[in-house]
Amino acid sequence: MKRKEIRKNKRRSSRRSTKRQFVPPRTLEEFFAMPDRDQEFWSNVGQAVTEVRAGASLRQASHKFDLDQRRIPQAARSALRKLRNGRWVARPNDRLLRVLVIPTRNGLREIGVPDFRQASLLGKYWTAVEQYRDTGDASALREFRGKHIIDAKREEIPVADRSPCIGPSGFSGSSFLRVTLREGGVMRKKLPQRDPESAWVRSATAARRFGVGAQCACGETRPEAFVPNSNPVICAACDRARRGKTTVDNHHDAGRANSPITTPIPVNDHRAVLNTAQYDWPKATLENSTGSPLLARAACVRGFVDTNAYLVDKLLLPHAEFCELLDSMLAEKLGPEWWLNTDLEQFAPNARPTSRREPK
Ligand SMILES: [Zn+2]
Repeated sequence: MKRKEIRKNKRRSSRRSTKRQFVPPRTLEEFFAMPDRDQEFWSNVGQAVTEVRAGASLRQASHKFDLDQRRIPQAARSALRKLRNGRWVARPNDRLLRVLVIPTRNGLREIGVPDFRQASLLGKYWTAVEQYRDTGDASALREFRGKHIIDAKREEIPVADRSPCIGPSGFSGSSFLRVTLREGGVMRKKLPQRDPESAWVRSATAARRFGVGAQCACGETRPEAFVPNSNPVICAACDRARRGKTTVDNHHDAGRANSPITTPIPVNDHRAVLNTAQYDWPKATLENSTGSPLLARAACVRGFVDTNAYLVDKLLLPHAEFCELLDSMLAEKLGPEWWLNTDLEQFAPNARPTSRREPK
């Protein structure tokens, strides 16, 4: 009895001490070997330190990432310095492992980045990607040609070293595009994309903000539907519902510049499907800055095609799948011609009016 008690106490005290002594991970493998809770804690510490380096106080940074203020200097001692006045500041560089997403020629990949310098180089690359995405200007992207990031194991990881718009078609065929971009299953029978490489850049950029495989508590997985910088990640629909706001947007089918016509669309689909589809339009058509009547008409055609494809996917296709499933269930239960001698017989494609029907 007594021995049991002692053992119990021992276990409890050891558990307490492991909680107190957090060991920072140094490699990607060590990071992923940690419990989820510790992974999240460590990711938040890295972001908080970056925030302090940008000028925030430790209190502000800890509040932003929902951390106990005292635990940040404990876990990231090498990254921070306490001034005489008690204020914590960040050192110019740090050696904190950050797990970041990097685009490579084979799609997105998570790597362990060993210090702030490498992390900020990767950040600059992503900024160049975003500039290309938003303006079509690939000049900043071209500066990264042939460059690489050094990971925590001192390996050189080449970034996607050419402008994805002129890049190999391997980009669009990357498993990332297939798995992540359309994981939500919406627009399964989607129209071919006009510019799959740009779509990849956009989606990669969105995924970078939240990490590969991020998911809202409701199951939403499309990064375009997530609230930017939310942590833990939350989708726009859940966020609005929580704040008592409407979860439906009025989508400008042809773009605001081209027509006042709108269609109410659930916010997540508005962002992840229809707005995303509009990125594939020629920029001049969507923005129509000169007010051209010709471009406005082009936009109406494109908008109708997109909205129609969305409605087809949402309102029609699921019912076809339902009918097919029900047919096979009925055939299994009642035989392959389950409709014979029932009221449903009149709906069979070869049915004749019952009265004139001749016996076989
Ligand atoms: Zn959600």
